[in-house]
Amino acid sequence: MRMTVIGTGYVGVVHAATMADLGHEVLGVDIDEDRIAALADGTPPVYEPGLQDLLQRTLASGRLRFTCDMSEVAGFAPVHFVCVGTPQMPGSKSADLRSVEAVVDGLAPHLHPGDLIVGKSTVPVGTAVRLAERLRTRAPGAGIAWNPEFLREGFAVRDSASPERIVVGVSSAHGESVLRRIYAPMLRAGVPFFRTDPNTAELVKVASNSFLATKISFINAMAEVCDAVGADVVTLAEAVGADSRIGPRFLQPGLGFGGSCFPKDIRGFMARAEELGVGGAVSFLQEVDEINTRQRVRTVDLATRLVGGDFAGLNVAVLGAAFKPDSDDVRDSPALAVADALQRKGARVRVHDPEALDNARAAVPTLQYTLDVPKACEEADLVLHLTAWPEYQAIDPVALALLVREPVVLDARNALDAQLWRESGWSVHAPGRPQPQE
Ligand code: NAD
Repeated sequence: MRMTVIGTGYVGVVHAATMADLGHEVLGVDIDEDRIAALADGTPPVYEPGLQDLLQRTLASGRLRFTCDMSEVAGFAPVHFVCVGTPQMPGSKSADLRSVEAVVDGLAPHLHPGDLIVGKSTVPVGTAVRLAERLRTRAPGAGIAWNPEFLREGFAVRDSASPERIVVGVSSAHGESVLRRIYAPMLRAGVPFFRTDPNTAELVKVASNSFLATKISFINAMAEVCDAVGADVVTLAEAVGADSRIGPRFLQPGLGFGGSCFPKDIRGFMARAEELGVGGAVSFLQEVDEINTRQRVRTVDLATRLVGGDFAGLNVAVLGAAFKPDSDDVRDSPALAVADALQRKGARVRVHDPEALDNARAAVPTLQYTLDVPKACEEADLVLHLTAWPEYQAIDPVALALLVREPVVLDARNALDAQLWRESGWSVHAPGRPQPQE
């Protein structure tokens, strides 16, 4: 089938390449000319394991092409996936839908009866119904469906090719049939397919993200309680997660969530629920958000205590800038926020990250950055582990201890082998974990 994918960020580029890999003819479209030029050359705009290979393979197949020329779009295909950003509106909790609206309004005059716009962007419930109303007069006979995207950064290629579920919110049998044809190879492979109305489809996405964010903040709240009584949140999380009704995933206590989705999605959900008169139903998300933000403050406070209250003249090494491992995304990154806060408190902060340094430098140019872990830690008075890249768990703490001024590590992700580091001479501190008894 032929289709366009409008917006070639994390979601769009992965979706476009996956669709081409399934055998479809795909035109990727963006307003960012540099991005389109790089994509046409086989260079993805983001670091994502496996993406470069997939992109180059599908470009070489001839089934994937990129353009900035919007006039090509409507003529190319009868199906248009919308993958543009829906960030938080400045000064408000609501999602900024201007890009989605611009795409739909721009396409409308060029659509033919039977054409289908398929939204993948995360939007407030009611958006598809509202956009369908606009299309009714501007593009009679064209339809709109919502097919939320659930890929995880760091696993995006895998998630896109083998999703755990496909959710489509449609208001016509035609919409369902088009999407069933597009996803046919996945459906044959047994991927569950949920056909529902557009409102429910939009809600599935924000409900999923809200649940996951709540699970993370729940265990981080438990870490705060553990700290108050000297209990161990890691053991607690393992024991709680062993209950099959709860499960261990998303129960890793640490610095909390960030990135371009969870924070803005739970805020957007609260704002939309308020508009619908059911704000009280999701008001707990305000607490989830506050618990999450507090983990950054708690990390800065603990770091400050560890250096005796004053960072003047001290070197701090920060391991990690991305909001999560296997991503170069630093949008609302807890790691970068903590690094920035420590610098503002007077520390000389050197940040290491294997993939996110360019984005981190653009976001916070005042920090020092290095691609070399030993260099980041040289003469450090404190080392902070802020993004759980696997390579940090493989660090030899004996060798690292020889480089630093003080062998003190704050493992804000609870991911290092505390016993190994202590045996190697380090003083190890982590949220929700007691210090060992002498
Ligand atoms: P992104 O910011 O990485 O990419 C958005 C792209 O859209 C950019 O390349 C931008 O230039 C382009 N764009 C903006 N306006 C445009 C227009 N009028 N025409 C064409 N292109 C335009 O965003 P993203 O992270 O890919 O997220 C896209 C949507 O998917 C958001 O709603 C997000 O919440 C949702 N989502 C993201 C993820 C994720 O992990 N990043 C996962 C699931 C869902």
